Parts: sequence; structure tokens; C-alpha cells
Amino acid sequence: MIDRNIQLFLVPTPIGNLEDITLRAIRILGEVDFILAEDTRTSQVLLNHLGIRKPLYPHHKFNEHKAIQGIISRLNGGEKAALISDAGTPGISDPGFLIVRACLESGFEVECLPGPTALVPALINSGFPCERFVFEGFLPVKKGRQTRIKELALEKRTIIFYESPMRLAKTLGQLLPEFGGSRRVSVSRELTKMHEETIRGTLDELIAHFAETAARGEIVIVVEGI
Ligand code: SAM
Repeated sequence: MIDRNIQLFLVPTPIGNLEDITLRAIRILGEVDFILAEDTRTSQVLLNHLGIRKPLYPHHKFNEHKAIQGIISRLNGGEKAALISDAGTPGISDPGFLIVRACLESGFEVECLPGPTALVPALINSGFPCERFVFEGFLPVKKGRQTRIKELALEKRTIIFYESPMRLAKTLGQLLPEFGGSRRVSVSRELTKMHEETIRGTLDELIAHFAETAARGEIVIVVEGI
């Protein structure tokens, strides 16, 4: 039986290893009336794997503003929905916030299930203090990037960034003048996947490492605070 009077569930999905989905996530996906997915083709593979057949609609950064009114009308009609992203927790560097806000403003209850997200294992694997941390997601690509880096250089808490493999070496190089070469950094890549690895060292050491070995796959950078 579906939980309480929740109308929208945000359901975390695996960030690599398909075993990383909770029993409740599977049940909720099987019980809702329809599923909103960032990329319906990617999510269809997961749903097929789980044996779940549900109407699946695209919900991504290019259509989320437009789609919201239609979703709210369906929830008004008594339907229940789940939002999933390509990987991890919806709303974490992925669509989610806008539909959650619209639901709450319309008086609908929402619930995010606990589950996979890349930032938590990367933080714990780093070995840096994790009682307090700051999640920065992706740095701005152009405008405001340098200012953000400058501000963060004085941050006391452990800092977590998402980054693409193409930009990793450049980003580490951009951190150098503000953070200094002796600042400790941990880079986790391909978490939960076959080629998972975490490389730890000073900023100077990691810059040297990635100058020799091109980064591949999905990346989280964790930097120790001051
Ligand atoms: N919603 C996701 C979450 O909860 O982590 C994040 C989505 S964001 C669009 C994608 C970024 O998350 C990647 O560029 C990478 O920085 C990080 N990421 C996702 N899966 C990962 C993995 N298996 N290993 C390392 N980083 C990962």
C-alpha cells in the first residue's frame, strides 16, 4: 500500500551498481500512477530490469518549467507520481527542486526516499572530516567561477564538487593559486562501478597524477577545508 497521502515521491536510483536501490524505492515505483524521468530511455532500462511497467514521461531541465502545470493538474485529479533522474537522488545537481516547490505551493505532500547519491560515498572515502561539509555541485562554467573558487579557498568545512572528466585537470589547475599546492584533495571516480577508484593526495600530487593519467568516467572532487 502506498505511503500516507504523499502525491509526489522523489526516488533515488543507482549511480552505477544496479543493486543499489532500496526495496521501498522498487515498491513505490511499482505503485505510483506515472513516473517522471530525466531521460526516459535511460530509466526504461532500469524499470525493465526491475520488471516495472508504468507510463514514463520526460522531465528534464529543458521542459521542467513547462511540464509543471500538467503534472499539478494530474495530482489534483488524485494521481500519484514518482520523479527519478538518470542516477542518484533527484534534485541533487538534477531536476527536482522546481516540481517539489510547485507541489508544496499547491498543497501536495512530497517525500524524497533516502538512497544513492554520489556525494556521500565520495565524502566518506576521502577520509576528510565529515561532521560538517559543503556541497557545491558543479562550479559555474564561466561567469562567477573564479569568484566562487576564491570564496571557497577560505572554507573551513570539507568541500565537495561534481566535475566532468574533461574539465577535471583544468579545474584542479584553477584551484591551485587559491587553495595552494599542499591542500589535501580526494578524487573519487566511477563510484559503485567496475573501475571505481579514489585517489588522495595534495593538490600538487593530484595535478601531476591527472596530467599523466587522463580522468575517465564520473568524478567527484573532495577538498579538505582550512
Ligand atoms: N543526482 C546525482 C546524485 O545524486 O549524485 C548527481 C547527478 S549530476 C547530473 C552527475 C554528476 O554526479 C557527475 O558528473 C559526477 O560528478 C557525479 N556522479 C554521479 N554518479 C557518479 C559515480 N558513479 N561516480 C562518481 N561521480 C558520480
